[in-house]
Amino acid sequence: MTHRNLWQAFVETAAAHPGQEAFAGPDGAVDYRRTAAAAAALADRLAARNVGAGDLVAVEMPVGPLFVVGVLAATAVGAAYIPLDVTGPAKRREQILTDARPSVVLRAGDDDVRAVAPLLTAPPPAGSPGPERHAPATDGDDPAYVIYTSGSTGRPKGVVVPARGVHTLLAAFRRRAPLGPGARHSWWTSPGFDVSVYEMWSALTSGGTVVPVPDAYRRDIDATLDHLADQRVDSAYLPPQFLTALRDRTAGDRTDAARPVPRLRRLLTGVEPIPLGLLVELREHTPGLVVINGYGPTETTVCATLYTVPDHCAEPQRRTPIGAVVEGNRGFVLDDRLAPVEQGRPGELCVAGPGVALGYLHDPDRTAERFVPAADGDGLMYRTGDIVVADATGELTFLGRIDDQLKIDGVRIEPAETEAALRRCAEIADVAVLARPASPGGPSVLTAFVVLADADALAGADLWTGLKARLADELPSQAVPRRFFALERIPMTSDGKLDRPALPTSDEPRA
Ligand code: ADP
Repeated sequence: MTHRNLWQAFVETAAAHPGQEAFAGPDGAVDYRRTAAAAAALADRLAARNVGAGDLVAVEMPVGPLFVVGVLAATAVGAAYIPLDVTGPAKRREQILTDARPSVVLRAGDDDVRAVAPLLTAPPPAGSPGPERHAPATDGDDPAYVIYTSGSTGRPKGVVVPARGVHTLLAAFRRRAPLGPGARHSWWTSPGFDVSVYEMWSALTSGGTVVPVPDAYRRDIDATLDHLADQRVDSAYLPPQFLTALRDRTAGDRTDAARPVPRLRRLLTGVEPIPLGLLVELREHTPGLVVINGYGPTETTVCATLYTVPDHCAEPQRRTPIGAVVEGNRGFVLDDRLAPVEQGRPGELCVAGPGVALGYLHDPDRTAERFVPAADGDGLMYRTGDIVVADATGELTFLGRIDDQLKIDGVRIEPAETEAALRRCAEIADVAVLARPASPGGPSVLTAFVVLADADALAGADLWTGLKARLADELPSQAVPRRFFALERIPMTSDGKLDRPALPTSDEPRA
C-alpha cells in the first residue's frame, strides 16, 4: 500500500473529479477545482513564509470551506495541521497553542486567508494544481495532524498522527462500504476531535462532498437527523445518543414528522459502548445500510478496530463487539507484564502498525510510557489502557479501562485534568473527581469531591456555579463536574489511594 501525503491524495482526487462538490455548506457548494486552487494559493503563501515539512500549522477557523482550505494548504507544504474548535473555550485553544508552538495559526481574518477566499467563488483556473507544486513526496510517515486529548498529568497532550494512519483507516472503510465520487459525507464532529479526520478525509480522497452539520443543530438530535435527510447524506458518523432516534425514524410505525435518512449507506458510530440490539435493529430496518461500531483511541488514528453489525444476531443482549483490528495494523491482548493472555481471557489491547501515532508532541517521556516495543518485535505498539477479550475468531469485545480515564458524552476525560484545574482555584485545598450516578441506578455524571481551603467558607450553589464557570473557561464542557460535594477531607485507604466506597453517595444530601 502506498501511503502518500494527504495533499497528494487530495490532488489526485481533485484532478479526477474537478467539477464535483468538495464542500456543501449553508453558503453554497464549492467544487474540487476551486478548493484545490484556493488551497494551492494559500500553500504558496505558507511556503513564502518558509513553512514546510516538519512544521505545524494550527487552523483556528469555523468549520467551513476555508477551514478545509487551511487544512489542505498545511498538508500541501508538508506541514502537519492542528485543528482547533473555535466554538470551544478560548483558554483551551491558548493552552494548545502554547504547548504546540505552531509556525503559523490560520485565522479567518488573516491577510493570507482573506486573500485566497475569493478563489472559492471565482471562475475556476485552467488545469489543475499538480502535486509537484507542493508537498515533497513521502511514504506517509510524516506527521499529518496533531489532535489534543485529555491528559492524566493535568494538561492536554497532542497526539501526532502520520498520513499512513489516515490511509490505513480509509482503506478499511472502503472495504466495508465503498463510496465513490458524488457521495455526501456529513461532518458532525468538532474539528478538535479525531472523528472529524475521518469525516473530512473520507470525502476528500474519494470525490465525495463534505456536508457539515451547522453548529446550531449539532446538539439537537432531531434537527441533525432532519439535516442529514434534507442533505441526502450517504455517509454519517453519529454518536450513540443519536441512534435511538435514528432507529425510530426507520421503524415501520414511524410518524411522518420523523423522516428517515433516505440515502444513508454508511453509518459509523462508537466512541463508547452501545447496546448491540439497537445496532442490529438499525441494520435490519435499513436495507443496504452498513453500520460500523468503531473503536479506538486518538493514538491509533480514529479507529483501531471496526465491527460491521450483522443483519441478525442471536444474542442482542450481549456486549457489542468492537470487531477486529483494522487491516494493516496488528493487535495484541496482553497482561500487565505485556505477555500475551490466553485467548478468551481479558487483557490490555495493544496496537501496532501504520495506524499507530508517532507519539505525543514535545513529550518524549509520556510517549515512551505508552508507545513501547511491539509484542512481535516489529516497531512500536500503543498501549490503549483498554481491557478487551478476544474470541476464537479474533473478534474483540471491550470490557473497560485499566485506569481512571472516562468517557463523558463521548468525550475522553482524564479526571486528573479536572482535578488539576480545580486545584488552581484558590478556594480548593484538595479534590477528587470521578464519575458517579446522580441518582441511584441512574447515569453517571462527573462529580467533584472538594475540601475547601477556608473551612468556614459557605459551600453551596453560588460557590459551585462560580467554580463551574471558571472551569468552563479552560476545559471542554464534558470535563466540568456537574455535581460538587464539600468534604472535610478526601478519604484515603491505608495504602494512600482514594477510598471510593467512603465517598458520600448520591443518596446523601448534596453539600
Ligand atoms: P475516539 O474519539 O476515537 O473515541 P478517544 O481517544 O477520544 O477516541 O477515546 C478513546 C477511548 O474511548 C478508548 O480508549 C475506549 O476506552 C473508548 N472507546 C472508543 N470507542 C469505543 C467503542 N466503540 N466501544 C467502547 N469504548 C470505546
